[in-house]
Amino acid sequence: MSPAHRPRRVLVTGASRGIGLEFVRQLLARGDHVIATARHPGRAQALNHLAGEHPGRLHVLPLDVADPKSHAELVRELPLVLDGDGARLNLLINNAGVLHSGERFGHVPLAQMDDSLRTNVTGPFLLTQTLAEHLADGAVVANLSSILGSIARVDGFHTPSYAISKAAQNMATVLLAQGLSERGIVVLALHPGWVQTDMGGDGAQIAAEQSVAGLLKVIGNATQADSGHYIDWQGAPLPW
Ligand code: NDP
Repeated sequence: MSPAHRPRRVLVTGASRGIGLEFVRQLLARGDHVIATARHPGRAQALNHLAGEHPGRLHVLPLDVADPKSHAELVRELPLVLDGDGARLNLLINNAGVLHSGERFGHVPLAQMDDSLRTNVTGPFLLTQTLAEHLADGAVVANLSSILGSIARVDGFHTPSYAISKAAQNMATVLLAQGLSERGIVVLALHPGWVQTDMGGDGAQIAAEQSVAGLLKVIGNATQADSGHYIDWQGAPLPW
């Protein structure tokens, strides 16, 4: 743990693998108290291994971000794992996401549109609303967005259900930033780069370690003036 770092309470969604799992690793390494959520905790082997190495500092809880009933269950469990009466979260990382690849014009199925919107938009928006009372004043909400959600950067008919959902998620970020501004809560839309995960697939350029280290720096440096902004993992502003 760096001597300058004050331990924080952080909740991460979609922590079973990929960028979410790497967030958990780096947050633990810097001394934070982490609540890592996963759809199927029993199957999240790497996460459970980490929990064994960090008893008391890493709690693994079930959460399907696409299901509001699951949000309510998480809220009921939260006081049991937040150390201290009335303890609140300093950082919420809305990381869970889904990308349905191979969609072609004229053949985009309703089920994939629906799943993308529920997971990438409705999920983080409603979860943040539900968790708002458990966020500390001055907390940060980091929404994992994507450059593929940038309307200004559209270049062909690619990953439509994902792109539409991330553009909508960007609007959710801006509105949440407005809604939470009175409490000094900063809400960010963050593009992690093209990252070597299951979703990133072949050709991804950036290791998850590198992306997450950059994202944590961006989050750590964010002030109220950055709230509602769309930024990449190196801190560069992105066009909506
Ligand atoms: P992965 O596909 O590797 O991992 C996705 C994670 O989200 C898994 O933990 C998965 O859980 C979880 N998840 C999916 N649906 C749900 C759900 N309904 N409820 C809870 N958890 C769910 O993706 P990445 O790690 O690469 O991506 C993380 C975030 O970064 C996403 O929001 C993505 O859109 C964004 N991003 C990634 C980029 C990249 O290049 N990798 C580029 C731009 C943005 P399970 O194991 O249960 O499936």
